[in-house]
Amino acid sequence: MALRTLDSLGPLAGKRVIVRVDFNVPLKDGVITDDGRVRAALPTLNHLINQGARVIACSHLGRPDGEPNPKYSLEPVAQRLSELLGKPVAFASDTVGASAEAAVAALGDGEIAVIENLRFNPGETAKDEGERRAFAEQLAALGDALVSDGFGVVHRKQASVYDLAELLPSAAGLLIEKEVDVLDRLTERPERPYAVVLGGSKVSDKLGVIEHLLPRVDKILVGGGMLFTFLAAQGHPVGKSLLETDQLDTVKGYIRTAAEKGIELILPVDAVMASGFAADADHVVAAADALEDTPFGADGMGLDIGPQTAELFAAAIRSSKTVFWNGPMGVFEMAAFAEGTRAVAQALTEVDGLSVVGGGDSAAAVRQLGFADDRFGHISTGGGASLEFLEGKKLPGLEVLGWQ
Ligand code: ADP
Ligand code: MG
Repeated sequence: MALRTLDSLGPLAGKRVIVRVDFNVPLKDGVITDDGRVRAALPTLNHLINQGARVIACSHLGRPDGEPNPKYSLEPVAQRLSELLGKPVAFASDTVGASAEAAVAALGDGEIAVIENLRFNPGETAKDEGERRAFAEQLAALGDALVSDGFGVVHRKQASVYDLAELLPSAAGLLIEKEVDVLDRLTERPERPYAVVLGGSKVSDKLGVIEHLLPRVDKILVGGGMLFTFLAAQGHPVGKSLLETDQLDTVKGYIRTAAEKGIELILPVDAVMASGFAADADHVVAAADALEDTPFGADGMGLDIGPQTAELFAAAIRSSKTVFWNGPMGVFEMAAFAEGTRAVAQALTEVDGLSVVGGGDSAAAVRQLGFADDRFGHISTGGGASLEFLEGKKLPGLEVLGWQ
């Protein structure tokens, strides 16, 4: 069954519409360092405002563990939202208390309020169904309908994501609609050749995706910290690079499966080996079968794919029609080890087809490296949610909106 979309809610003028967004932005000393998630919510919020709805935006921010904590207040986000919308945004200092009720009561048609962090209330994330439901009922009293648009949380069975959608007439917002459309194309009907590029720090984080996607793709490219577990599985010593010895057998299994099914498993042919984990560490390029033949010997640490690998990966990406990329190729946070990630990002922008970037750090990496969002087919706002979708898992926050 398909996702219920905004039109299923009928005319919204004058109605109080709660919008569950994902405003979980990175903050440093109360300043938003990446407002990508606020921008991602704008199409739905503008749509509702233009229809004359009375909009109540709600979100979580960080992990305040069920109690108010000024460090995780949504107030700076409400301010940023006001700048981006170019109109006033009211702010309620609580979620379901007197301040929220007053803010909602004061809303005119086409006006918007943000209520305080949902996770200041233990009910939002409570394991206990009754407690969760009770909080959802309090939220439901604030509105006439729910638009669910926080894609980053649809894999969570939480009060505002799941229960609230059962209590009020509910539909997916434009962001969730787009995310689901793109991810569904990746799982059900990818144009071929289809390449998946995986990186990041840990193989164990990505096992589910590798397993689910392996039989569905034409090429798998492995970079990032996890590449060393693959090279070790091929019998190469990797020095002090990230290595998950408990995953070696699983990884050997992937290498076998890929060979049996004729899937191109493209592993690095070289890596950047460093004297240690530091921005100013000495570093050299080493061949994949000679990672310990450097001045650092067995103490060397692999922090990026090498230039030959970057070229190999870029060519494999450019010649694909569908590319999904999750996980930086190296420690992109340090300039000396960001080149592999840059090369892969650049190649994705040159794909003649659909290119998708998924994962929080991957999205941050492409922005930090100066690539504009619109150079990619899609940048998923949900790290965990997009991976679980691609793993073929059922996501409660989507099922409750009619998705099966
Ligand atoms: P995403 O959030 O996009 O899913 P991950 O969280 O899996 O990505 O991984 C991101 C992290 O992986 C980054 O902080 C990056 O520094 C780290 N990383 C990438 N390559 C290496 C490496 N060779 N050694 C250690 N860490 C690495
Ligand atoms: Mg991450």
